[in-house]
Amino acid sequence: MLSVIIPAYNEEKCVKIAYDKISAILKENAIEGEFIFVDDGSRDETFKMITELSEEKGNVTGLHFSRNFGKESAISAGLASATGDCAVVIDADLQHPPEKIAEMYRLWEKGAEIVEGLKSERGRESRMKGLGAKIFYSVISRMAGFDMANSSDFKLLDRKVIDVINKMPERGFFRAISYWVGYNKGTVYYDVAERVDGESKWSTKGLFKYALSNITSYSTAPMQIVTFLGFVMLAISVIFGVWALIDKIIGRALEGMTTVIIITIFIGSIIMISLGIIGYYIARIYEEIKGRPKYIVSSTVKSVRK
Ligand code: UDP
Ligand code: MG
Repeated sequence: MLSVIIPAYNEEKCVKIAYDKISAILKENAIEGEFIFVDDGSRDETFKMITELSEEKGNVTGLHFSRNFGKESAISAGLASATGDCAVVIDADLQHPPEKIAEMYRLWEKGAEIVEGLKSERGRESRMKGLGAKIFYSVISRMAGFDMANSSDFKLLDRKVIDVINKMPERGFFRAISYWVGYNKGTVYYDVAERVDGESKWSTKGLFKYALSNITSYSTAPMQIVTFLGFVMLAISVIFGVWALIDKIIGRALEGMTTVIIITIFIGSIIMISLGIIGYYIARIYEEIKGRPKYIVSSTVKSVRK
């Protein structure tokens, strides 16, 4: 059986459309499936829609978060309650073409343990967002050590992989975790479709925070940059130090206040940036060490199997 995990945040209109579309595709391809809708603390009628679906149909589970915990948490919750032999994660807005699920499923049957959905084209988005995504993926790919350009959360995972991910206590980045775990991979290319309804739930600020937290959770390279900058500053200061001493010896001191000011400001800013980076990691450690749950499920609905 295939578990279809659908994170949904304020997607009241998309829930039913997604269900109908995906279940038609499963039927066509004779794939048995269950649906897990994770309502990420929506403020609209999303959960009501999910509840209705679960009463109407025989294969729908709905989880409702007590507040908005973010898509990563919604995916974790979905994976934790999936009961299938494999599971696919797909957006509620159908920007991930559901037809591809059948293709992914076939690859899984042939032995792929993770089937990645890769974007062949990024769909319509603003130039800034496209550029941001490009920078983010090139940075994280280099730091984390695997190429993740064009990756997305549209993936199919084998039971083994789901179990491994469920056991990971960290607040990871789903997209990268599935690379990190390894396993046999299959790939499916897809074009990003237009949203069925509503608009993207990401603000620029949200995306920036998301990028930052993912980079730091996969790499400590920024901290090493701090050390590197420290050495560069040390080298520069040795040169200036020798220079200043020579000036002093030949009695040419006092001049060069400008240099002093520039160096002071420069070192000051490097130290502040460095402290900021270190502080950011400490904050992450603090977050993890508190051991708070990744999400809180405030209510659950489940279809009676028909
Ligand atoms: N989503 C979520 N929690 C959030 C934001 C988004 O569960 O805090 C879900 C959303 O309902 C959708 C998917 O994640 O199913 C992708 O979100 P969206 O379409 O807004 O992002 P984009 O496609 O613009 O990257
Ligand atoms: Mg979308």
